[in-house]
Amino acid sequence: MSVLEIRDLQVSIATDSGPKPILKGVDLTINEGEIHAVMGPNGSGKSTLAYTIAGHPRYQVDGGTITLDGEDVLAMSVDERARAGMFLAMQYPVEIPGVTVSNFLRTAKTAIDGEAPPIRSWIKDLRTHMTDLRMDPTFAERNVNEGFSGGEKKRHEIMQLELLKPKFAVLDETDSGLDVDALKVVSEGVNRAKASTGLGILLITHYTRILRYIHPDFVHVFVDGRIAEEGGPELAERLEEEGYDRYLNGTSVG
Ligand code: ADP
Ligand code: MG
Ligand code: MG
Repeated sequence: MSVLEIRDLQVSIATDSGPKPILKGVDLTINEGEIHAVMGPNGSGKSTLAYTIAGHPRYQVDGGTITLDGEDVLAMSVDERARAGMFLAMQYPVEIPGVTVSNFLRTAKTAIDGEAPPIRSWIKDLRTHMTDLRMDPTFAERNVNEGFSGGEKKRHEIMQLELLKPKFAVLDETDSGLDVDALKVVSEGVNRAKASTGLGILLITHYTRILRYIHPDFVHVFVDGRIAEEGGPELAERLEEEGYDRYLNGTSVG
């Protein structure tokens, strides 16, 4: 069974006035097949955690470790992380002129598997996933991220997740900017990916709304670069009612 382990992670971001410490010792263990929700107020360092796992050069690791089945993730290039089975949704946020969705996905699949998927089964897979995600077939021939709506970007992200079949996925604010219909479609995709491949998921979100459709096994509350509290799904329900005030007012928490 695969496991992604984060131990005492400390991270600074490069700013004009020098490195600014953001993560102040984060511990998190995600086993294959588990969904972990990381929730917390804006500015608490959630995206910093996602970018650090993704290997973004702006984030400097000052201490601690990230390992995937014992292998040092922090020593891996971004490509190596993907080949090791990590899916980092923010990896390709940019427009890629002249590269169609279809070609992009096939290239990514080839890079990760080390061989090109057979063309017939590939086209069939692509169509199936597009139908599941209620996307128009012409979407495959559009250029990556060019003029994509918020919902199309997220669907494209989930299509990558379903086609690339990673071991672990980090989804940062996948729910932001989605209407309820798009949110349902995207959530169903995440749930399918989990059911079919036993994917482990780090689901980062400010709002509890997406957790009505994607049910986390564990919930971690992030405050000021640390996990302030953790628990099961009931913690998300409490956050929905109470918000983050109790953490921000300096109330001591267990
Ligand atoms: P979250 O995703 O929880 O909203 P972030 O990880 O985006 O939090 O941000 C964590 C902290 O890092 C915040 O205090 C934010 O002000 C700071 N930060 C993020 N990006 C920059 C930046 N480019 N320059 C300076 N500080 C930044
Ligand atoms: Mg933010
Ligand atoms: Mg963020």
